[in-house]
Amino acid sequence: MPSEPTNPSPTGRPNPLAGIDHSLHQQWTNWSGSQSATPAYTVRPRTEQEAIDTVRFAIREGYPVRALGAGHSFTPVVQTGGILLDMQHVSAVTGTDAEKRRVRALGGTAIREFGPPLWEAGLSLANQGDVDHQSIAGALSTGTHGSGTEFGSFSSTLKGARILNGHGEVVEITEKDVRELRAAQVAVGTLGILLEVELEVVPRYHLQEQITYPTWEESRASWDRDIADNRHYSFLWCPHEGSAELYELPTPDDLSMVNRSYTKRYNEVELDESTGVSAEKGSRRDRAYRIYPGGFGIPFHELEYYVDSRHALEAVEAMQDLMRNRHPEQQYPLEVRWVKQDEGLISPFQGRDTTVLSVSGAPGTDYWPYLLDVDAMLQGFDARAHWGKIHLLTRDRVAELYPGYEEFVAVRREFDPNGVFLNDHTRALFG
Ligand SMILES: Cc1cc2nc3c(=O)[nH]c(=O)nc-3n(C[C@H](O)[C@H](O)[C@H](O)COP(=O)(O)OP(=O)(O)OC[C@H]3O[C@@H](n4cnc5c(N)ncnc54)[C@H](O)[C@@H]3O)c2cc1C
Repeated sequence: MPSEPTNPSPTGRPNPLAGIDHSLHQQWTNWSGSQSATPAYTVRPRTEQEAIDTVRFAIREGYPVRALGAGHSFTPVVQTGGILLDMQHVSAVTGTDAEKRRVRALGGTAIREFGPPLWEAGLSLANQGDVDHQSIAGALSTGTHGSGTEFGSFSSTLKGARILNGHGEVVEITEKDVRELRAAQVAVGTLGILLEVELEVVPRYHLQEQITYPTWEESRASWDRDIADNRHYSFLWCPHEGSAELYELPTPDDLSMVNRSYTKRYNEVELDESTGVSAEKGSRRDRAYRIYPGGFGIPFHELEYYVDSRHALEAVEAMQDLMRNRHPEQQYPLEVRWVKQDEGLISPFQGRDTTVLSVSGAPGTDYWPYLLDVDAMLQGFDARAHWGKIHLLTRDRVAELYPGYEEFVAVRREFDPNGVFLNDHTRALFG
């Protein structure tokens, strides 16, 4: 039921949000509870037109707007004191084209909603990350990725979009609009509202999972082969006996996980679904979209930095040294993944095949000294960062590390000259 408009607009005109589901001064928190805000209005549009009407209302009345996907970011990218536009109901896969290998979907569509309709059309997302709860617009906005040297982030697959900009206009971007498309591929919600997106997809495929628990020496010995020979290769290196448990990683009872990794390999496999599907833990075989998503039930906060893959081994061992010797109190595993370079103006993978290093801490604990040391050490590797995960990047650092930064800021100012879609965090970085 839409809530009653209990307050009129500040100008005294009738409240144009009256017919749209919304609430006033309702506290919002993200997935882990680490970020919160109390917007003046939380608006839950059911249709694209309601989202458009809300943004036009905001522009008229002088409210800033931030879009909300699934709230799975750890950075202050969603907060606003103005209008929080919760896009979760503006969701649907709106079209597939098997010949062109394309899918179109509304911005609030959850990644997990793509699997079945794509499969029916003979298609699949090229790659996926550790969970599939995020909205596609949220995933695109922060450069969300899976692992595999042959695959870019979700953003690298964006081929078109309809964006509601800060002028209140709906703008259609296609592959011909190279500059705007590269800006839209990763934009941290600052160009406007992603109403609908078009992604490049691949013919559908099945995956064979293989989970192993090698010692670090074993991982090191097969480093190049593991990275090159697997569609998806990633590992979570455990500094402590209890590390795996913090991410709920199933490990053999009789195996000490200290200095071992929980290692994932996913490779394509020909599968007859009537006989070949397997749900056996550690060696599942199924449709790709059923294999990728794990589950993280216990909340954590995560920092994620990106180094040039050519320096990956050196960076991983420097992280291990830091975790073992300077911060032995830190228990969470070090997750390591790979992402192919792309062209997004502020994509962390722009022009650089990347190795991803992620570390976490428990909500409610003070682990800033650790994060500061990780940041300082990885600066020596010219590390970029995940826009949705904890980082300490400043405007100056971003300008130095992201070659497309100035161009991005120019496009952002064209789309939203009055900063309708900025909050304090994004203004400091991209204002
Ligand atoms: C348990 C967990 C697992 C994760 N796993 C991975 C992983 O494997 N790989 C990875 O790269 N990241 C991962 N992440 C990070 C996550 O993918 C990103 O933070 C992503 O942005 C979250 O999407 P969301 O829908 O929750 O967006 P939100 O966090 O709600 O929003 C993120 C940004 O997108 C903007 N936005 C949302 N919707 C729109 C819209 N319609 N139009 C314009 N802007 C919009 C928001 O304003 C904000 O700036 C994980 C996070 C968690 C909590």
